[in-house]
Amino acid sequence: MSYSAPASSSSPSNGSSGTSEPERRVLEYDYEDPAYRVFIDTLSYLPPDEVALVCAAYRFSDEAHQGQTRLSGEPYITHPLAVAGALAEWRMDVQAIVAALLHDVMEDTAVTKAQIAERFGKQVADLVDGLSKLDKIEFQSYQDAQAENFRKMLMAMASDLRIVLIKLADRRHNLQTMAPVRPEKRRRIAHETLEIYAPIATRLGLNNISRQLQDLSFRHIHPLRFAVLSKAVKAARGNRRELLTKILEGVHGKLAEAHIEAGVFGREKSLYSIYRKMVDKHLSFSQVLDIYGFRVIVKDVPTCYLALGALHALFKPVPGKFKDYIAIPKVNGYQSLHTTLIGPYGTPIEIQIRTQAMHHLAEEGIASHWLYKDTVESGADLQDKMHVWLQSLLELQSATGDSSEFLEHVKVDLFPDEVYVFTPKGQILALPRGATVIDFAYAVHTDIGHRCVAARIDHELIPLSAELANGNQVEIITAPFANPNPAWLGYVKTSRARSRIRQFLRGVQQEGASALGEKMLNQELRALGIGAAGIPAPVWEHVLQETGKKTKRELYSEIGLGRSLAVVVARRLAEGGEVPQSESGASTTAPLLIRGTEGMAIQLATCCQPIPGDPIIGLLRKDQGLRIHTHACPEVRKSRSPEPQNWIHVEWEPDPGQVFDVRLKVTAKNVLGVLGKVSTAIALEGINIGYVNMDRRNAGIFTDLHFLVQVTGRTHLALLMRGLRRIPEVVRIVREQESS
Ligand code: MN
Repeated sequence: MSYSAPASSSSPSNGSSGTSEPERRVLEYDYEDPAYRVFIDTLSYLPPDEVALVCAAYRFSDEAHQGQTRLSGEPYITHPLAVAGALAEWRMDVQAIVAALLHDVMEDTAVTKAQIAERFGKQVADLVDGLSKLDKIEFQSYQDAQAENFRKMLMAMASDLRIVLIKLADRRHNLQTMAPVRPEKRRRIAHETLEIYAPIATRLGLNNISRQLQDLSFRHIHPLRFAVLSKAVKAARGNRRELLTKILEGVHGKLAEAHIEAGVFGREKSLYSIYRKMVDKHLSFSQVLDIYGFRVIVKDVPTCYLALGALHALFKPVPGKFKDYIAIPKVNGYQSLHTTLIGPYGTPIEIQIRTQAMHHLAEEGIASHWLYKDTVESGADLQDKMHVWLQSLLELQSATGDSSEFLEHVKVDLFPDEVYVFTPKGQILALPRGATVIDFAYAVHTDIGHRCVAARIDHELIPLSAELANGNQVEIITAPFANPNPAWLGYVKTSRARSRIRQFLRGVQQEGASALGEKMLNQELRALGIGAAGIPAPVWEHVLQETGKKTKRELYSEIGLGRSLAVVVARRLAEGGEVPQSESGASTTAPLLIRGTEGMAIQLATCCQPIPGDPIIGLLRKDQGLRIHTHACPEVRKSRSPEPQNWIHVEWEPDPGQVFDVRLKVTAKNVLGVLGKVSTAIALEGINIGYVNMDRRNAGIFTDLHFLVQVTGRTHLALLMRGLRRIPEVVRIVREQESS
C-alpha cells in the first residue's frame, strides 16, 4: 500500500502554493489509504489537536515498521491501525489510541521507550512499555491454577486498564489474520486466548469481544467442528425461520397493542458457547438450538415492566423462570428482566428486557462507561472512571449482600496485592506484595529456604532481601552447609517463611546450646584434672538440685546460652557439690575448639566476620550463646574490660571444611565492564559471590566495588586477593570490617 511519501506524491493540482498548512497535509495523507481514512473518521469525538497527534503517531509507527510485513504480505502498519481502530470504536482517549498505533514498535523495531516519551509523552510511553512487557511473558501450562495465576499476573502487570483493552484488541486482530500462520502456533495462540484473554474480557464485562475471541479461537483449534457447526446453525436457522417469524410477529403485535415502543432482536448464541454446551452438558445439537432467545430493548425502566406484562399475556410464562435483575442487579452491574415463555408448539422462548443503557453495560462492560459517556463529564480521566465504576459495584454489592466471585476477581485484578513470579521451570508462584527472595525460596520448598545462600532475578545476582516484582524469573542458589539466618526474619513477608525460619532457629538453639554447654563444661572439667565420666551420680544430683535443673541436658543448655558459667559449674562438680567461694575470674583453661557451624549457640559475629586463620575470641552473652569475634574487632576492644568473665578462649578447629562469608572492598578504575572483570576473576577461583554492590556516589576515576564472597579461610582469601591484584584496573583490596 502506498500511503507514504506525503510530499513527493502530492499532485500539482493540489494548489500551487508549496507552503500548505500542516492540517492540510494530514488530509492529503489520509486519502491514500481508505482504511486509514475510515479510522480518522471514527476519531471525530476527539478535539483536532488530538487527532493531529494520532496522525503523527500513525506516521511514526509506519516509518518504524517500514519494510516489515505481516505473514499475509500486507505492510505491518495495517495491524496497529486495526488495533487502534478498535480502541477508537470504544471511544478511548488519545493516549490509548496513540499507544495502540505504537504497540509493537518497541518489540519489533529499534525505537526506545525514551524516544516514545519524548515524542508522545510519558503516559503513552508507559502504555507501550507495559504492552511490550506483557508480550515477553509466555504462557506455558494449561492447568487451571496456572491459568488463573497467569491471568492475575497479566492484570497486575497491566497496571493501567488501557493496556488490557489494547491487548485484547491486539489479540483479536491477530486471531483474525492468523490464516497464514502454521497450525501448531495457531492452536497455541488460540488456546492461550481461551484460557487467558477471553476470561479477562468476560470479567471486565466486555462480552462482545469475549465472544469474538472465543469463536475465533474455536475456529483455529477445531476448524472442522467449527465448519460443521456453523453450517448446521445456518441450516437450522433456515428451517426454523417460519417459527421464528411467527414468534417475532406475535411479540411485535402485542407490544404495539400496548403502545410500547421497542426494538426486538433475535439473540444469536456464539458457536463456541453452543459447542461448549453440547460437550459439557452432553446435549444434542437440536437440544441446544431449540431454545429461542429474544432481546427486547425499550426506552426506560417502567416500560421494561410494561413490556413484561404484555409478553406474559401473549405466551404463558414458565413458572420460576422470571428474574428481576433490574430491582436486584447482578454484582457486575448487569441489569435486565429475564423470563421464559412457552411459545407455539411448546417451544421455550427466553426473553431479556432492558433499556438501551443496560444493554450497553451488558455488552461492553467497563468500556461502556467511556463509550456512552455523558458529554458533561467528558474531561475525566479513564482511571478515575474505572474507580468510580468499581465503587458503584462495591455499593451494589453491599446493597444486595450478594457476594459473587466476579467482584472478588475484579478487585484482585485491578488492585492486586500479590506479585506473580516464575520458577526456573516456568511455574508461576503468587506471593504477597513486598515478598522477598527468601519468601520465594520457602514457597518452593522448606529445604530450599533453609539452604538458600544467594539468588538471581532474571539471571542477575541480587541480595536476598530484594523484593520481587511481577514477571520476575527467580532462581535460588543453595549450599549444603547453609542455615537460615535470624536476620531474614526482618524482611520475610509470608507467614510460611517466618514460621519455618523460627522453627529452625528454635530447634537449633536448643540443640546447639546443650551441645555447646556440654563441650564448655567438659573443657573446664579437664582443666581441673577430672573427666566428666569420673563425677559420681550423687554429685550430679546435688548440683542439678542446687541449680534447679531436672536433667544434665537442661544444665548444659543453661551453660551454652550463657545463663550459667561453665567454670563455676565445673568447680561445683569437682568439689562434690560444694559451692566454691570465688565465682570471678575468666577461665584459664585450654581453648574451646569451634567450627563455625555449631548453629545458633555459637555464632560468628557479623561485625568482623571471622574466618579460619583469624585469631578469635568468644563473647558469652546471657540468652544469646557464644559470639565469635576476631581479636582485631573494635567490638572486642570496647567491651573486653567490663565483663572479663564472659570472654571465652576459643580457637578454630584444624579443618572446618566449609565456607565463610567475608566482605571485600575492591577499589578499581571506573571503566566500563570493570565489575564484570572482577566478578569473573572471583568466579574463576571457584569462589561463590553472595552479594555485589557498586558505589555510584563517587562516579569519578575510581569506584568501590563491594563483594560478599565465601572462602574456606585466610589462605583461601589471600589466594583470591592475589588473583584480583593481577587485574590492571584494580588499585586496592581491603577486607571490610564494619557493615556499612
Ligand atoms: Mn500486535
